[in-house]
Amino acid sequence: TSVWANVKAGPPDAILGISEAFKADTDPKKINLGVGAYRDNNGKPYVLPSVQKAEEILFKEKGDKEYLPITGLASFDKLAVELAYGEDSAPIKEGRLSVSQSISGTGALRVGMEFLADHYGGNKTIYIPNPTWGNHTAIAKKAGLKCDKYRYFDPATVGLNFEAMVEDIKAMPEGSIVLLHACAHNPTGVDPTQEQWKQLSDIVKAKKHFAFFDMAYQGFASGDTVRDAFAVRHFVEQGHQVLLCQSFAKNLGLYGERIGTVSLVTASPEEKARVDSQLKLVVRPMYSNPPVHGARLVSTILSNPELKAEWLSEVKLMADRIIDMREVLYNKLVELKTPGEWGHIKSQIGMFSFTGLKPEQVDALAQKAHIYLTRDGRISMAGLNDSNVEYFAECMSKVVK
Ligand code: PLP
Repeated sequence: TSVWANVKAGPPDAILGISEAFKADTDPKKINLGVGAYRDNNGKPYVLPSVQKAEEILFKEKGDKEYLPITGLASFDKLAVELAYGEDSAPIKEGRLSVSQSISGTGALRVGMEFLADHYGGNKTIYIPNPTWGNHTAIAKKAGLKCDKYRYFDPATVGLNFEAMVEDIKAMPEGSIVLLHACAHNPTGVDPTQEQWKQLSDIVKAKKHFAFFDMAYQGFASGDTVRDAFAVRHFVEQGHQVLLCQSFAKNLGLYGERIGTVSLVTASPEEKARVDSQLKLVVRPMYSNPPVHGARLVSTILSNPELKAEWLSEVKLMADRIIDMREVLYNKLVELKTPGEWGHIKSQIGMFSFTGLKPEQVDALAQKAHIYLTRDGRISMAGLNDSNVEYFAECMSKVVK
């Protein structure tokens, strides 16, 4: 018998399963609203022109393919965290921010959580919002943290249940780890307001909790990278020693390049040096050192004022197209007299919208209309465009009626 005869088949990945069903469908009207990747108004993947220019620059430079240091390309690390925390951020200026290049946001989460599992002195349970990105629980467990949930979303209002969120954060044992989506919460598209973030900062501080930020969509939410960094910057200004996971998958369209950072605010340059050394001990046995190309691309763009300005306008263009689609979809649903309140389609932000569609309605959309989305009713807004949004609204309206 085979060595693997007793291996049981694992559950299929919810999102990849949708992409497969979509691929197998031969109807020309088919729409894939499952995967969280940006599509242009023709439904095609979008390589940002600023990225193409950086590619040309790098090609001419004919760089070598040597290994990077364990914590990555130094120029990239510096520019990346300046984008997140702000150039004037105290921990950066005072040389007390520990940073490592990461394998995109997922790798940042894994390294960050493993670091906490090894070194965090408080309650080694990470609390994640309910619902959250599907991978958070699995990463936490592999990293060696316990994982629990706090209430976040209210299906009745299709909005934030701020009171319940606060109640749950207050009820966690002192010194717990609280995972917060910095902006454009996945899957709901529902974020706290700036006023609510300020309250959250106070509550997290009063309970001596540890703020663990996942920022996968900086710039993608509002179109403005500074505005989207509000929560992280506010917490840091308030003295929280945050951990931040940063991804350049969505905002630079660098999905497959796997480029991001993990960073931790420390108290002093001396402490930073110790934390740096331990971060390296997490990375070294995991993948030794990170890939070089994405880091060079981001570094080239962020260090060149012209390219950076061009990129910022491209992020805004992507965010604005999604905001437009929200408007069109909302108007069409209202025009079709779709039963229910649909304001949340417009007020939610980022890549996704939690429509409130029930699993049976999602199934009906796939079977009758060739439209594919996750059974929780989440749609990737980027999958909609001028050519398919009306068809989608009509089909959605029909399954709701
Ligand atoms: N965190 C959240 C909330 C996400 O939605 C995603 C991607 O969908 C990620 C992290 C990680 O993505 P990546 O590893 O591609 O950067």
